[in-house]
Amino acid sequence: MIEIKHVSKWYGATQVLDDCTTQVSNGEVVVVCGPSGSGKSTLIKTVNGLEPFQKGEILVDGVSVGAPDTNLPKLRARIGMVFQSFELFPHLTVTQNLTLAQTKVLGRSQEEAAARAGALLERVGLLAHKDKFPGQLSGGQQQRVAIARALAMDPIAMLFDEPTSALDPEMVNEVLDVMVDLAREGMTMMVVTHEMGFARKVADRVVFMDAGKIVEDCDSEAFFGRLEERSPRARQFLSKIL
Ligand code: ADP
Ligand code: MG
Repeated sequence: MIEIKHVSKWYGATQVLDDCTTQVSNGEVVVVCGPSGSGKSTLIKTVNGLEPFQKGEILVDGVSVGAPDTNLPKLRARIGMVFQSFELFPHLTVTQNLTLAQTKVLGRSQEEAAARAGALLERVGLLAHKDKFPGQLSGGQQQRVAIARALAMDPIAMLFDEPTSALDPEMVNEVLDVMVDLAREGMTMMVVTHEMGFARKVADRVVFMDAGKIVEDCDSEAFFGRLEERSPRARQFLSKIL
């Protein structure tokens, strides 16, 4: 579904991605972890064309993200992205946040979009809040709205960039629970997170990045279970967060 092949990226003279190669198969959950500044956000944003790259190739469902003739808005509409900072429209209600792109981008009727919004809000446990504004919700609730909004577009894959890092600790699990359900239903997911409990529970593979490079890319049982086989950098990272 997502193929990242020998991708390198520079900001001016600074290289931030260095020959990165990995893939996410249909229905697979891949967790990306690594120290701050190692290039995780940059890598995940290259997948839906939010960050250009200078070398290599990325294919999403066979479409080349970097090719000049690729319709990026169309591709992005098929990939759900959830950020650390929720990014909801503050002046729209929860329901309006979920229906806007459905009507504008997918051409659904207002009724159809509202029905889909209602079903998804029910699923993330927020139907009772459908007429509130984002500012009236807790961080955990806002992030669940953001996930529901992404799902309303019927994405072929979901990208998450530290979706729980901005949350108070007591709200982390309500968001992770939604993500665990999604993973178990077979959604293709690429998730930047330091939540190693989540990674252990649902990740098929773990990618560990350091200084712009993919240092480890292995199945999660090996990543967590056979620490002696891990690189010194990965072991050092894990020793700090496990
Ligand atoms: P991570 O998500 O792993 O913390 P990032 O992908 O955000 O790392 O950043 C990787 C590197 O790229 C860092 O060294 C960061 O300072 C640099 N970087 C990120 N965005 C920019 C930018 N817009 N201009 C210049 N350097 C940037
Ligand atoms: Mg980041």
